[in-house]
Amino acid sequence: MTEPYTGGCACGAIRYEVSAEPAVMNDCQCRQCQRDSGTGHSSHLTFVEAPVKLTGEPALWATVGEGGTRKNRAFCSTCGAPVYLTFPNMPEVFVASAASLDDPGRYKPQLVMWASAGQAWDPRDPAVPVFEKMPPQNV
Ligand SMILES: [Zn+2]
Ligand SMILES: [Zn+2]
Repeated sequence: MTEPYTGGCACGAIRYEVSAEPAVMNDCQCRQCQRDSGTGHSSHLTFVEAPVKLTGEPALWATVGEGGTRKNRAFCSTCGAPVYLTFPNMPEVFVASAASLDDPGRYKPQLVMWASAGQAWDPRDPAVPVFEKMPPQNV
């Protein structure tokens, strides 16, 4: 086991620590992620059944993804930074926003999803597999 993944919002009010390796790291170009990130995509580290320590009280925005998945997007009510996502129907899954990491260099995108909603001004790395919508394994 390597060092825990630690991070939080821009002002420091919301913090997390995940003591596991991510199951997958991916960019998502869906419209919700565009709006959530303020640019062409979100970059997410997905952890499954990982020990997660949280501090601070995030604001939660409950949404339903284009694939029908219910999600709670946790962000800071002071600085507005998107920090993590949780899933009411999948409590074992924790998704951290790559830019919220204390060391964002640990994020290494393995795939891009929802490329069908991607913008021409948000080009994709040709070395990374691209999926028009969700990848088959539903990550
Ligand atoms: Zn904050
Ligand atoms: Zn998305």
